[in-house]
Amino acid sequence: MNKPDMLSVDEALRLLLESARPVSETETVSTLNADGRVLAAPIRSVIDVPERDNSSMDGYAVRASDCASGAARLPITQRLPAGSIGTALAPGSAARIFTGAPIPPDADAVVMQEQCSPEGDDNQWIVVRHHPQPGEWIRRTGEDIRRDSVILEAGMKLTPQATGLAASVGAASLEVYRRLRVAIFFTGDELAMPGEPLPAGKIYNSSRFTLSAMMRALGCQLTDLGIVPDTLAATRAVLRQAAAENDLVMTSGGVSVGEEDHVKPAVEAEGRLDMWKIAMKPGKPLAFGQVRRAAPNGGEAAFIGLPGNPVSSFVCVMLFVRPFVLRAQGATRTALPQYQVRADFDWPRPDARQEFLRVRFNSAGGLDLYPNQSSAVLTSTVWGDGMVDNPPKHPIRRGDSVKFIPFFERGA
Ligand code: AMP
Ligand code: MG
Repeated sequence: MNKPDMLSVDEALRLLLESARPVSETETVSTLNADGRVLAAPIRSVIDVPERDNSSMDGYAVRASDCASGAARLPITQRLPAGSIGTALAPGSAARIFTGAPIPPDADAVVMQEQCSPEGDDNQWIVVRHHPQPGEWIRRTGEDIRRDSVILEAGMKLTPQATGLAASVGAASLEVYRRLRVAIFFTGDELAMPGEPLPAGKIYNSSRFTLSAMMRALGCQLTDLGIVPDTLAATRAVLRQAAAENDLVMTSGGVSVGEEDHVKPAVEAEGRLDMWKIAMKPGKPLAFGQVRRAAPNGGEAAFIGLPGNPVSSFVCVMLFVRPFVLRAQGATRTALPQYQVRADFDWPRPDARQEFLRVRFNSAGGLDLYPNQSSAVLTSTVWGDGMVDNPPKHPIRRGDSVKFIPFFERGA
């Protein structure tokens, strides 16, 4: 059992999602730039796709009944490249046709060119060595999309394919929710920036890169406020500034209980804070709350304080920040994809907390375990393809089926 003051991952997620208020403002963007945005209004098609029956092969449009002999000799009376419209096909004739071209009236099948032999000085005849079924190699009107049907629902996070589908019914622009405005800053006097020399006792601010890229991949409009000195006054000042202009303020580090951890008292002074001890490994401390906005804007910004350890913050963004941001941006689907996969490793001494083990696929389709599961070992997140979500106190034996969560991906 968890200690009574510990939240489970599911409970923490439920609390977060309950408090995620979706943005109400929408904007119209070009369909070309809508990838990754959340659709604010359903798209209804005003056309059938395809708009008319057309050929799915390069070949000859015929009347199937004319070809019953298996060696029909037919004059070629029309040539129909994609984009052209033919005329009614006379009995006993054929039309040269190319992929995507509309089927001429009165033709009911296409014979692929590999089953035909041209004849005559100018190839004006065709011998059809096949007896087609009516409908053969014909794409039917509306077989992809029916006129008046809803092709994309509001609340969908648009993938590249979805923008293509919208374009296939002629939508040049789409109404989407505005991006969530997110500010992030990093605490820790031990942090140095890449490009600077590394003084004794310091470490590079790796999380700045990981977390910023994840937030941008989620479609947020990100303000990166960099490293803030480990003092209460500096932390409070940056919090105020960040809350004034953003929907969500995020921090990395400084939410443990050490004397140098100023995020907690700073958020308590500027708003409200719940310190969550989540029964998970890595990533135990997570802070959630609100930061007040000064007049004239008023209101409050949401606050999420991530743990400092780089693997912990990475995992917390996947498990908590991602669904929170998706919900706040109007998305209806927030759940992480997960799959049952075979473990090709043993995990005999599980923790009492829910564990997220960094793993990757081997060539046999099973999962291998990264040997060092420390929350400070960022290499595990680059080596791995994802994580095994392992219940508390649950030993894993080689061959067991385990719950696999792929790492953060675009279009998530
Ligand atoms: P904290 O949560 O501030 O106590 O930090 C926990 C651990 O994570 C410490 O070892 C920090 O040095 C390390 N850490 C904190 N912030 C970062 C960061 N931005 N990048 C890499 N490591 C960090
Ligand atoms: Mg710190």
